[in-house]
Amino acid sequence: MDLYEHQARDIFEEYGITVPRAEVTDSPEGARVIARRLGGSVVVKAQVRTGGRGKAGGVALAADPAAAERTARRILGMDIKGHTVGTVMLAQPVAIAREFYVSYVLDRAAGRFLAIASAEGGMEIEEVAARRPEAVARIPVDPAEGVTSATAARIARAAGLPPQTVDTLVRLWQVLIREDALLVEVNPLVLTEQGRIVALDGKVTLDDNARFRQARWGADDPAVPDDPLEAAAAAKGLNYVRLDGEVGVIGNGAGLVMSTLDVVAGCGARPADFLDIGGGASARTMADALSVVLADPAVKSVLVNVFGGITACDAVADGIVRALDTVRLTRPLVVRLDGNNAARGRAVLDAHAHPLVRQATTMDGAARAAAHLAHAS
Ligand code: GDP
Ligand code: MN
Repeated sequence: MDLYEHQARDIFEEYGITVPRAEVTDSPEGARVIARRLGGSVVVKAQVRTGGRGKAGGVALAADPAAAERTARRILGMDIKGHTVGTVMLAQPVAIAREFYVSYVLDRAAGRFLAIASAEGGMEIEEVAARRPEAVARIPVDPAEGVTSATAARIARAAGLPPQTVDTLVRLWQVLIREDALLVEVNPLVLTEQGRIVALDGKVTLDDNARFRQARWGADDPAVPDDPLEAAAAAKGLNYVRLDGEVGVIGNGAGLVMSTLDVVAGCGARPADFLDIGGGASARTMADALSVVLADPAVKSVLVNVFGGITACDAVADGIVRALDTVRLTRPLVVRLDGNNAARGRAVLDAHAHPLVRQATTMDGAARAAAHLAHAS
């Protein structure tokens, strides 16, 4: 789970890392009150769990409380990469002398953490990393050893960061380990004109598997996925992962759905999602599944691939027909039913004769049809 910037900021503060004074609100009027409390001039920052807010216009300086209110009104409700801004953080502005980049990230392949740091932090860090990789230091960290002052000094030296950053580097490591994070990133970590080191932006990704031992988050409070469609699907109890293709995929059983993704890819198309309805063939499950998949504007066709075992295909077909009463099908749907009661299931769909629904008898044929329909539209 990704934390919001203001949550990361609060954690950093607890660990003794210098952060700007800041408060969060969901209303423009609240922004005015907070700005007054913080001394008048503030930075207004969209709270969304995605990066690049600055470039999207979601970070702006306001000179006084009235300007803070106007700016908050503009930023609240904004869409940043599919994330709607529901709250803004108001922070005391910092006079920046230099901007650095620092992060610790899990390197799964190496079985270690990686410290990544650069003396050229800020909004252009991705361009810097792409054009001049030598400007970004990458230092492996043995998780058993951790980041001591000596390690931190080595990281700072490799990246060309001033020695005052060492203390912050050690504390950020403590955040990573004690909070069970997979990623801690500060961009920019700044040197202020007064010579202080301040974490001006923070991203923390927690390991959801460790939630049970993090009292802060509450074991019963389910992890909210970062993608809005995944969050909507999780709220409906669906096992859905959004991918970046154009063929929506719904199936029963994780193995069958995984192979369906492969077969779709084998037909030259790209799956738009993984959605396993499990044993749920009810009209409600089917309607929920279809509405989640169709809510992705990238989806051009949908493939339902069901192998009837305990769940009989006619029950699945009934579920589809009844789902089509409540879900407006706006893109073609290809259904492949096989296994238990497949013939009856096919007959149910034939009888319904929806103009956008067609059937296929094999997984290959169904994937080919769905891929073709996706590319034809
Ligand atoms: P991001 O674009 O989502 O990473 O948002 P950031 O929080 O990193 O803000 C983007 C940029 O705004 C930073 O790189 C800074 O250059 C600038 N910025 C943010 N806060 C301040 C501040 O207090 N003072 C100044 N001068 N610039 C700031
Ligand atoms: Mn940033």
